[in-house]
Amino acid sequence: MIWARAVTFVNARVVTRDQTATSIRFSSRVLSFDERPKQGDTVVDLGGGFVLPGLVNAHDHLELNHYGRLKGRERYENASAWIADMGQRLSCDPAVRVGRAYPLIERLFIGGIKNLLAGVTTVAHHNPFYPEMRRTLPIRVVRRYGWAHSFLLETRPAGARGEPGGDIAARWQTTPPATPFFVHLAEGVDDEARGELPKLEALGCLKPNTVIVHGVAIDENGWRRVARTGAALRRPASAQDGHPQDGPEGHGADGERASGARARRDRRVFCRGPPGRGRHHLDPEPVRAAGHAHRADLVEPAEVRDYPDLQGDRPGGWLTR
Ligand SMILES: [Zn+2]
Repeated sequence: MIWARAVTFVNARVVTRDQTATSIRFSSRVLSFDERPKQGDTVVDLGGGFVLPGLVNAHDHLELNHYGRLKGRERYENASAWIADMGQRLSCDPAVRVGRAYPLIERLFIGGIKNLLAGVTTVAHHNPFYPEMRRTLPIRVVRRYGWAHSFLLETRPAGARGEPGGDIAARWQTTPPATPFFVHLAEGVDDEARGELPKLEALGCLKPNTVIVHGVAIDENGWRRVARTGAALRRPASAQDGHPQDGPEGHGADGERASGARARRDRRVFCRGPPGRGRHHLDPEPVRAAGHAHRADLVEPAEVRDYPDLQGDRPGGWLTR
């Protein structure tokens, strides 16, 4: 959030890396802790409220959140079947048609608000960086990223304006090595899904900046190969609506960034919020960094439990940093 002047929160409990401060002074970034407000500051008394680091949502499609849950079959073997079902609903389902008619800027804003209410201040968006995202969003969106949607949608529409999902090899090649490259991969539990990692490898696109989204069908051997390259995994935690995300848990690109234990820990952190905010409102759950350039500073679950504000009726303050 942009403030015209520096802001100081006083009478606060500010969780920092090493301690709990009683005040924080910031503008577009943190200026200091435990310092008196300076002349001209906007001063806000938090009455003892908590200020926690903003979370990073490692994967979202910001223009799609306003649809709510779109339940189809109980279970899908591959995302392709879900997409085929959705293809029909896009033209036939009145609720979906109404949802599509909203201006893109409003759809994106809803996605931003959803994240903000979940404590997220930075989002790794997957799909084009729409011009509308340059303004009015209440969160930061990662700007430097490469993307393709998936093998399935390489030549088919994936973006809000019908932008194609993109040729994976071509898109990867135009993504600088230090920039994360997002792609849905192995999103299913069938042979087609199992074949996608070898396909990606054959194209030479499994590299350190590759961020695999889903990866459900990747087996242990596959994860070893992923780990060797240093690529990253971003796996949605919930197997909601029968979406084929209920594959084996627990194999990650490396022990710290993508282990099942880490993913479960993230989930617990993220699900713990004020009453009335169900997990499914927080769709982009794990609050891990996308790729190598954006890492989340997580509050450990044990620490979160100690914060009454997160369990009561009032959310703590959230801080962008
Ligand atoms: Zn995605």
